[in-house]
Amino acid sequence: MISVLSGGTGTPKLLQGMVQVMDPEDITVIVNTVENDYFSGVYVAPDVDTVMYTLAGIINEDTWYGVKNDSFITHDRLKEIGCPETLRIGDRDRALKIQKTLLMEKEPLSKAIDIQRKELGIKSRIIPMSDQESHITITTEAGEMEFHEFLVENQGKPEVQDISYQNVDPAPGIIESIKNSDMVIIGPSNPITSIGPIISDKNVRKALQNVYVAAISPIVGYQPVSGPAAKFMDAMGHEISSLGVASIYKDFLDKFIIDLEDVDSQEEIEKLISKVMITQTIMRNMTDKINLARCILGENV
Ligand code: GDP
Repeated sequence: MISVLSGGTGTPKLLQGMVQVMDPEDITVIVNTVENDYFSGVYVAPDVDTVMYTLAGIINEDTWYGVKNDSFITHDRLKEIGCPETLRIGDRDRALKIQKTLLMEKEPLSKAIDIQRKELGIKSRIIPMSDQESHITITTEAGEMEFHEFLVENQGKPEVQDISYQNVDPAPGIIESIKNSDMVIIGPSNPITSIGPIISDKNVRKALQNVYVAAISPIVGYQPVSGPAAKFMDAMGHEISSLGVASIYKDFLDKFIIDLEDVDSQEEIEKLISKVMITQTIMRNMTDKINLARCILGENV
């Protein structure tokens, strides 16, 4: 049994490799929810949907958001009638978001996701980090912003001064899943806005301290592979490097996988984490994803 902590870009790529080398039924994915919100009348859970679409084989891999080959009839029509959307939601993607919104009239988010993933034929469990509402606030030079306001409307440009999210209770099944895991994997996701909210809960941290935890660095050669992690890490006082990521996870991390480009940091990281492995961590194709999955799973596969 393996639990994976995930955001919505780096870790889903790793999951594509993992399901090729182990039984998907033995995987539970615990997914960040602080970016969740209502847009155009539907509930949008960006990271959960990306994980779900990835495991269902329908993710748009150009954007790691939405369904591949989707149409945008509703999105375009909304613009024509003077109701432009903040997010560009495709028609097939929207149908699944409407279904989730309707399910949530009667069920908590975790149940709604479980129903959807089963309907999509996904064998792995997907658990949102919480059933409670949790918003992220990004304090910038231009004032406080919600996540999408910062990333979509302001294109991630303003200088970031602080990031905060309120503490929420873990969704049912998370602590048990971590406790029962042979290994917990922290995928190469944003350590501040994707993994940070999940590990901010004291019971999750306690559970992580009692199991074997392995992580892959999302920072390669002092830069994130994609996205705004550098700005966020800097704002929170962390060095933008694999060493900086290691310092965030050091209280519970047993194995850390860093990229070949970061070989120079190995010695410093080994002062924080007992086992450091070096391999190619950039996942450009399925072979890269499978190799990285094998590297992190080690003797477990
Ligand atoms: P978000 O929810 O869209 O921010 O996505 P995540 O938090 O899951 O992932 C963002 C992080 O994934 C970024 O910090 C990237 O540096 C990292 N990332 C994306 N692709 C790769 C990859 O192929 N290899 C590694 N090592 N990191 C990656």
